[in-house]
Amino acid sequence: MKGGKLIIFSAPSGSGKTTIVRYLLKQPELNLAFSVSAASRARRGKEKEGQHYYFMNVSEFKNHIKQDDFLEWEEVYRDNFYGTLKREVERLWAEGKNVIFDIDVVGGLRIKKKFPKETLAVFVKPPSVDELKIRLKKRSTESEDKINMRIAKASVELATAPQFDKVIKNYDLDTALEEAHKLVADFVEVSASKKED
Ligand code: 5GP
Repeated sequence: MKGGKLIIFSAPSGSGKTTIVRYLLKQPELNLAFSVSAASRARRGKEKEGQHYYFMNVSEFKNHIKQDDFLEWEEVYRDNFYGTLKREVERLWAEGKNVIFDIDVVGGLRIKKKFPKETLAVFVKPPSVDELKIRLKKRSTESEDKINMRIAKASVELATAPQFDKVIKNYDLDTALEEAHKLVADFVEVSASKKED
């Protein structure tokens, strides 16, 4: 596989990385395209097939594992498999894009290891685990059980931050967005002065 740059944003669920990734995708000069992952979890709210995820059941997902179709995959939560399909990255590189990922810390570090020179791996740090709890409850897209599962995982994930190229503290969203924009612009070697809301 050969192509443009890979930009990874990893963080515990509820840290705000999805908001940051969405913002960066709106900056045309960064020439980014979102890597849509495969996932075996149920669709939430207004999520769309092929836009948020390629949704599939566990057995379809396991078939892709057998066929060696994934660049990386992870059972992020029990029976909830997530993975990056090689063909997704190949497709976006063929379009001349830099690829941006919103994936878990293990997957992010795996991609960094496979493509060390092409990858910028950024960890988004939430103010605290308590704040994460509040954000996940506010989002109210998951059951109490699932929220607790995500919180339990967050502490483990926070410990991996030093393995990333950069850490962004998301205490204030506007500051985090600006910082993320600058980091990515420097990495893809364009000026971060152009902005779009
Ligand atoms: P959610 O269910 O909230 O959409 O995602 C749960 C977690 O799985 C998040 O941390 C998300 O970043 C991660 N995730 C999404 N896609 C992938 C992927 O392709 N690979 C890995 N390893 N994690 C992913």
